[in-house]
Amino acid sequence: MAERADVVVVGAGPAGASTAWHLARLGLDVLVLDRARFPRDKVCAEYLSPEASRILTAMGAMPEIERAGAAQLAGMRVRAPNGSTLEGRFAAQHGFRGFRDSGLALRRTILDAILLDRAREAGARVIEGVRVTDVQRDDNGRAIGVTGLMQHGTLDVEARLVVGADGLRSIVGRRLGVTRTARWPRRVALVAHYRNVRDVTDVGEMHVERDGYVGLADVGHGVTNVALVVPVATHGAALRDRAALLDGWLASKPQLADRFRDAERIDAVRATGPFASTARPAWAPGAALVGDAADFFDPFTGEGVYAALRGGELLAPFAAENVRSTDARHADAALRAYERARRATFGGKWQVERIIGATIAVPALINHAARALSRRREMADLLVGVAGDFVPANQVLRAGYFARLLVFGA
Ligand SMILES: Cc1cc2nc3c(=O)[nH]c(=O)nc-3n(C[C@H](O)[C@H](O)[C@H](O)COP(=O)(O)OP(=O)(O)OC[C@H]3O[C@@H](n4cnc5c(N)ncnc54)[C@H](O)[C@@H]3O)c2cc1C
Repeated sequence: MAERADVVVVGAGPAGASTAWHLARLGLDVLVLDRARFPRDKVCAEYLSPEASRILTAMGAMPEIERAGAAQLAGMRVRAPNGSTLEGRFAAQHGFRGFRDSGLALRRTILDAILLDRAREAGARVIEGVRVTDVQRDDNGRAIGVTGLMQHGTLDVEARLVVGADGLRSIVGRRLGVTRTARWPRRVALVAHYRNVRDVTDVGEMHVERDGYVGLADVGHGVTNVALVVPVATHGAALRDRAALLDGWLASKPQLADRFRDAERIDAVRATGPFASTARPAWAPGAALVGDAADFFDPFTGEGVYAALRGGELLAPFAAENVRSTDARHADAALRAYERARRATFGGKWQVERIIGATIAVPALINHAARALSRRREMADLLVGVAGDFVPANQVLRAGYFARLLVFGA
């Protein structure tokens, strides 16, 4: 089978759906391919930062997300190994406000299907059940399409631009030779849903321990998402029995064991990882990457879905310019400008993520930071606002912020 489009988008998760929606609205002929059939699940803690609501609203997805019973999250609480607990709220006195004063949490089976429907509604064509296996190139190495496998036969798509929105182990990024898997941190995640977890509130929780961290969040309808992240080095072997690892880990932490005593796990424990991976640059002649395919570090700050949605929004005008260019140099310049825009938009957040990633790996550091932030609520609010994507990262990347962390954590 053969198809032709202005843009072929590989991957129909939040990055692919957002890219397709924005490009279709700009009048381009967009074809989206995904190996899965929707609704499909994705290993995720399922929390959406307050700023994600801005793009979801623009895409017209909010009414259905609310009808689906998404939970509202007012902020985040982080407990360090020494028991120090910081709590930050999205609605705070620091002078910054998100698009909404709360984050959302919703099962990815529901969210991703809603987003893909929005892309279809905007005019994008979608073919499910196609596993893309290669990027086609011309004699100059420029991407000119993709090849995929379907249940019965192959699909060749010719396109002016190939967008890799195919997640962490992006085939597009790997075929273009731009994906780098980080050596550190090497962590894996186990995710499952539970009912009857005690004392779950409208504040998302992170419990950092010496042997990993776990996130708990209400995802609506009385269901709690439980996402455990552990180092591969210490837990690799135990991954063979995921349920035993997750249940055993929860039972070994006194502050959690009690809350899970009457809880019931309602689905299989699913695993993914290691996750840290980047594409530098996130483009090559004839192709661009977005979402996890372009960059993902660690789930702790929980904004991958926002970055995926925002990445699509960011890419669309540059992609349109690329497609409408009549010469190759101008087409490449548009994607180079996309790369600069990505760095300007996400660069500060990438730094914050790396600092947090290093801090949670060293118990003495996270204990100190949590002690300081438990004493200075306004600093915790700022950090939670940065994680919520509406407080600029430079607010916590200042020497003054670190100095106060040192002083107040002592
Ligand atoms: C444990 C964990 C917890 C997380 N918690 C959060 C959180 O609470 N909040 C948050 O915002 N983010 C969280 N994230 C990150 C978030 O899940 C991702 O950043 C987000 O899903 C990225 O969206 P995406 O569209 O780039 O990729 P994906 O959602 O992974 O979508 C990629 C799509 O590409 C398709 N695909 C892949 N390969 C091919 C191929 N060869 N051919 C065709 N199709 C293909 C897949 O089927 C999939 O549908 C978490 C991640 C992990 C691992």
